[in-house]
Amino acid sequence: MTLTDSLYEYLLAVSLREPAILKALRAETAQMPTHNMQISPEQGQFMALLIELMSARKALEIGVYTGYSSLAVALALPTDGKLVACDISKEWTAVAQRYWEKAGIAQKIDLHIAPALTTLDKLLAAGEQETFDFVFIDADKASYDAYYEKALLLTRKGGLIMLDNMLRKGLVIDADNQDKSVQAIHQLNQKLHTDDRITLSLLPISDGISLARKR
Ligand code: SAH
Ligand code: CA
Repeated sequence: MTLTDSLYEYLLAVSLREPAILKALRAETAQMPTHNMQISPEQGQFMALLIELMSARKALEIGVYTGYSSLAVALALPTDGKLVACDISKEWTAVAQRYWEKAGIAQKIDLHIAPALTTLDKLLAAGEQETFDFVFIDADKASYDAYYEKALLLTRKGGLIMLDNMLRKGLVIDADNQDKSVQAIHQLNQKLHTDDRITLSLLPISDGISLARKR
């Protein structure tokens, strides 16, 4: 089944329950030239459902941008829940922080402005291995494999790692594609396929999201 524009509109019309604050953030981000980096609203809703389903308390996000996914997750976490958020952009995460404040969930989020690998190493050095329930990987694609390996160390047994953009708008099936990020994602897809440390599902939601549950 192809998700045509009109069928996608139908999907949103009968299922999207987007809180006003997320809608406002999406509208503000839409004014920015980089707005297509933002996750889709139905993906945010799906992530919130997973957080609820798992009764997740501690989450990690690699790639915040203007904060849509972090806000969707933080809203779904319990009052005493924690989200560790990683990004290198002060400018983009300033927008995120403004919305976290407005939504009244800023106290749940620890933002680290640094290359994500540095932050992940710090978390490991601080003894936080196997303490995260949920990890969302959505930063620079060339580092996905490294993020995934660190995420596996940081996630508890039975916890979930979600990886975004695993179909790269279909480019992954072109074996001649020279783009470094496309190649990195394709190689990681092949690695995940036979990785027996996880239970795997690749869903064609948005740009393709892989769910990897740590065994
Ligand atoms: N999840 C976001 C979209 C993330 S876009 C949303 O829901 O809107 C990717 C983000 O990764 C950008 O904000 C970019 O600044 C960040 N990024 C790129 N390289 C990074 C790195 N090495 N470490 C941390 N963040 C990085
Ligand atoms: Ca993404």
